[in-house]
Amino acid sequence: MKVTRFAPSPTGLLHLGNLRTAIFNYFMARKSNGKFILRFDDTDKRRSSHKFVEKIKEDLRWVGLDWDEEIFQSDHLDRYDNAKKDLIEQGRLYECFETKTEIELKRKMQLNMGRPPVYDRAALRLSEKEKAQLRIDRKSYWRFKLEHELVEWNDCILGKQSIPTESLSDPVLIRADGQYLYTLASVMDDIDYEVTDIIRGSDHVTNTAVQIQLFKTLGDYIPDFSHHSLLVNFDGKAFSKREGSMDLEGLRNSGIEALAIVSLLISLGSSKTIGPFDNFGDVLTNFDLSHLSKAPAKLEFKSLQALSQKSLQRLSYSEIEKYILSIGVPKNLTESFWEMAKENIFVRKDLAKLWKTCNRNIVLVSSDPDYDFLKNALKILKDFSLNDDIWRLWTEEVKKLSGRRGKELYQPLRFALTGQNSGPDMNKLLPIMVSIGLKISE
Ligand code: GLU
Repeated sequence: MKVTRFAPSPTGLLHLGNLRTAIFNYFMARKSNGKFILRFDDTDKRRSSHKFVEKIKEDLRWVGLDWDEEIFQSDHLDRYDNAKKDLIEQGRLYECFETKTEIELKRKMQLNMGRPPVYDRAALRLSEKEKAQLRIDRKSYWRFKLEHELVEWNDCILGKQSIPTESLSDPVLIRADGQYLYTLASVMDDIDYEVTDIIRGSDHVTNTAVQIQLFKTLGDYIPDFSHHSLLVNFDGKAFSKREGSMDLEGLRNSGIEALAIVSLLISLGSSKTIGPFDNFGDVLTNFDLSHLSKAPAKLEFKSLQALSQKSLQRLSYSEIEKYILSIGVPKNLTESFWEMAKENIFVRKDLAKLWKTCNRNIVLVSSDPDYDFLKNALKILKDFSLNDDIWRLWTEEVKKLSGRRGKELYQPLRFALTGQNSGPDMNKLLPIMVSIGLKISE
């Protein structure tokens, strides 16, 4: 049984990049009948907000994800205090006093000398007396003392990874204002909640080397890691939280179907063909991280739109019935309405437009060259009983009476009825219009 977690920081809206992480973790847990935890990484009090917690939850629910447990890092500060003590006892956490400017200066000097800008561990050489002196007018912060070695792991997506920790600065785990940073808090929670698999973006690969050492120091196991490639837009640039239209709320407002988003995110960069999947069961069957490529996953809004349309059109009647009722279609017509409408829509909102078409006032204008033809045609429509064949039977009769055929016959009739030159199959549309009652005025 696998335990996974999705751990957003509630500092912004959910976007496709972090939703992809959520989806992978969700399906990994569900596939093994395991546990999926939603964890809010909210130790940064200044930037985290309750508003984003609610928005993230709303967006995840909209996409169709549910979670077995919801946790907040801000509730676990005592656990991080313990971890701090533990690390100090083990000689793996040390107090530092440099200001940001001093660190920056050191960095510049190292770079000028052609050396990598790795923290020089100067604070480790301070005596107790010197530290006491520094504490008088400085706030200290804490760094994790890395063990210099080659950290290796078998990444479920990237394959064998190895990072020499000498190339890294000892990471800051606790800031001068006392804030526990993600690197430590995340590992402590992963240990406490017995997370077995960590799936996240490849921007975390370096963190993993550090966190593996933390797992060894604070716990007694190391989870499996998978780092998926990052999403890029079609110009090859990274999607960012700032890219408004790609946030979930923006996508929902533009009518993109949730299932299409899931289908696309799960299949991007996969050697398998992209869905659309018909439901989560279908996604679950096809879910396999080992099919994912290491290369950045290119996402184009147009392909999302196309997939969304396909997903929508493939919905079964029972899946869309509630929505159709909500736009005012009476119960006895919902099924035939869906049958008529589904080939003619891009987004759900188009259903409301089509329902308006069904209800429109048909206005005959006497200056219209087709006026007499239309008037006579609509007059005899009343003589036809309502059935699935009404369009065919009626137009055959109109054809006989008027002598018109082809485009000349059908086009004005369609235009008079729908106000458009093209659109749904009239065989399916007319029975609905007649059943509501045609509203004709001159
Ligand atoms: N809060 C972290 C982030 O959003 C979580 C990363 C992780 O999954 O470990 O990047």
